[in-house]
Amino acid sequence: MTTTNIEALVRPNIRRLTPYSSARSEYKGRADIFLDANENPFENGLNRYPDPLQWAVKERISNIKNVPVQQIALGNGSDEVIDLLIRIFCEPGEDHIITLPPTYGMYQVSADIANVAVKKVPLLPGFQPDVDAILAAADAHSKILFLCSPNNPTANSLDPDAMQRLVEQFPGIVAIDEAYIDFAGQASFTQQLATAPNLVVMQTFSKAWGLAGIRLGMIFASEEIIGYFNKVKPPYNVNELTQRAALEALRNESAYREKLQILLDQRVQLTKNLNQLACVQHIYPSDANFVLAKVDQPRELYQYLTGKGIIVRDRSKVTMCEGCLRFTVGTPDENKQLVDAMRKFNNA
Ligand SMILES: *Cc1c(COP(=O)(O)O)cnc(C)c1O
Repeated sequence: MTTTNIEALVRPNIRRLTPYSSARSEYKGRADIFLDANENPFENGLNRYPDPLQWAVKERISNIKNVPVQQIALGNGSDEVIDLLIRIFCEPGEDHIITLPPTYGMYQVSADIANVAVKKVPLLPGFQPDVDAILAAADAHSKILFLCSPNNPTANSLDPDAMQRLVEQFPGIVAIDEAYIDFAGQASFTQQLATAPNLVVMQTFSKAWGLAGIRLGMIFASEEIIGYFNKVKPPYNVNELTQRAALEALRNESAYREKLQILLDQRVQLTKNLNQLACVQHIYPSDANFVLAKVDQPRELYQYLTGKGIIVRDRSKVTMCEGCLRFTVGTPDENKQLVDAMRKFNNA
């Protein structure tokens, strides 16, 4: 294992930063009268600022994910987590991130907004990382390598041995985006955190937890990286309603498991049904809650489905996904309607 000096990877201005000190972070104890935060005193259930470090939510997550609570931070969706990571580590105009296309578009967008360059090392055929090419492309300015596993839009998990090699040998931060890990056969990389100081794992409440509307993303990393994250994040980045909704969901883990099992069963069923259609050429193996399928006439099929009120994602212009549509796994009824509509397109 290469010894990573995290502090040396952090932007100098962030290392030096004196973070904003909120009223709630300066006084954390119990009291009868709070006159320190310029809140409105009249109780309506939401008149107080939320816990800036979301301890109750993180304690629950810690138990479920088996990660110490000091190694967890929360963001306003994974999108905020990605943005903050780039702003912590990448000096605009100097440093860059590395992405492995075809993959999730937000890494590029967040880097573009921050004026941070993006080096692209395409996935190999089979959608696996080209470890040697990634390591050859890396230099002292390669601050973050984004690995998305299971990958969006290709649906496969990346090879754990390849990821392990990258975690061990990449000179910067390796950020593994596990937005779809609940749907995967593979173990989460969170269990490698103890031996990998440069590892960051991201997860979200938007997919398997069914809470895209509350905007809540998780980051798991060393205490040192979590410290920088908490220093840079807006003090109250996760609002009170979101924290309550997350706690409610986390207390009811069995509901999460039930829905997850239905989606996993439906993924099998949908794949089987799509495979029987003449317009479907190939379905890529999925470890996620969607399937990527190569179809005849992708553009026409997309328009046809839209006309029937069924919206799927057209990925047919994405390099290495030519001719492909991406189908999110819906309810059993929604999936049946999708397949029925596609059967009619076949026969039209
Ligand atoms: C859906 C998705 C996310 C989730 O982002 P949120 O901001 O948490 O909703 C993250 N990464 C990938 C690859 C995704 O597809």
